[in-house]
Amino acid sequence: MTKIILPPATIGIIGGGQLGRMMAISARQMGYKIAVLEPGEDSPLAQISDIEINAAYDDEVALADLLAICDVVTYEFENIPYAAVQAVENVGYIPQGHRPLMIAQNRLREKDAINEAGFNTAPYADVSTEEKFRTAISEIGYPAVLKTVSGGYDGKGQWSLKSDEDLLQALAVVKEHHCIIEGFVPFDKEASVIVARSTTGETRAFPVVENVHFNSILHTSTLPANVDAVLAAKAQDLAENLIERLDLVGTLAIEMFVVGSELLVNELAPRPHNSGHLTIDCCNVSQFEQHIRAVCGLPLIEPEILQPATMVNLLGQHVDYAMEMWQTSAYADGYLHMYGKEENKRDRKVGHLTFLEKDATALKAKVAAFLTNFPK
Ligand code: AMP
Repeated sequence: MTKIILPPATIGIIGGGQLGRMMAISARQMGYKIAVLEPGEDSPLAQISDIEINAAYDDEVALADLLAICDVVTYEFENIPYAAVQAVENVGYIPQGHRPLMIAQNRLREKDAINEAGFNTAPYADVSTEEKFRTAISEIGYPAVLKTVSGGYDGKGQWSLKSDEDLLQALAVVKEHHCIIEGFVPFDKEASVIVARSTTGETRAFPVVENVHFNSILHTSTLPANVDAVLAAKAQDLAENLIERLDLVGTLAIEMFVVGSELLVNELAPRPHNSGHLTIDCCNVSQFEQHIRAVCGLPLIEPEILQPATMVNLLGQHVDYAMEMWQTSAYADGYLHMYGKEENKRDRKVGHLTFLEKDATALKAKVAAFLTNFPK
């Protein structure tokens, strides 16, 4: 039975990073209380939570405690061991359950699920042994991308294979890790759609976002994406159909490659996503509020873009530059979001800045000027 969770109920969040923090900011605005489970103390989410439990994500006693004290529990990242969530899901109310984690934390299961649901990905193969690897590379050919099946993020656990010269390194990786090999997609653009599905079954997709990565880490996201209306509608339909066919609840972020008029799904994340952060400032509802609505059984809002926007990710090495620019009148109207991380570590996401303009051309010029001397 669908439960409706109203404020001032307590929402538990497994994971204490920036995604949990931004979910909690939305939830607190609506009047919910927040409990967090995260191994380290004073995490970005713990800083704004009512209750903090410090324990490993697979500590079943701590997970059960969280479920017992919360009216509803959700999660903010996909690498929580799914079996731990499965073991405690009957203790309390965790409407998403363990299935989204099970699918998303294994690239092979994820690609199989996408294809079984009727959508396309790059060609891929399981490479659990050297023999399978040799067969796969002869079928897929170069260029290809080798990825660890689990545990990779932001380009970590990924190797590009251009020719036989890369075989030696690849074989060493395959000996150590269970991998997947994918054909390299010569994409025109990268895009993503964030879609939410409520416990009631109501589904709403945000408009398609255009993404630019640098060193495999998201650099900028722009809404609306510069794609034609047919492709934009196709991306939103894909997202709504995929979450329904996979029968998932909560938020699903779908990263895609745009190749001509085709869309290939690259990756799924069963949570709000970095490419959806700009919805906080440029849409009538943010991905975080929509997520809270979805897990609380509340009606979803049909997302609309209020103004074109670009989000610039701030990694540790970008903070000094961004702060300096943000103090100047040219960029002072950028919406700054800092995550309360202890240190500004290189290549770690510590905040973001979202710029809004009335028209897409002015936005493009402003972001280009802002990024002219952006540190690498
Ligand atoms: P992922 O961790 O799978 O999201 O990959 C990170 C980034 O690497 C993607 O956003 C792409 O820019 C690039 N990438 C990953 N897989 C492929 C592929 N099969 N073909 C082309 N580029 C890829």
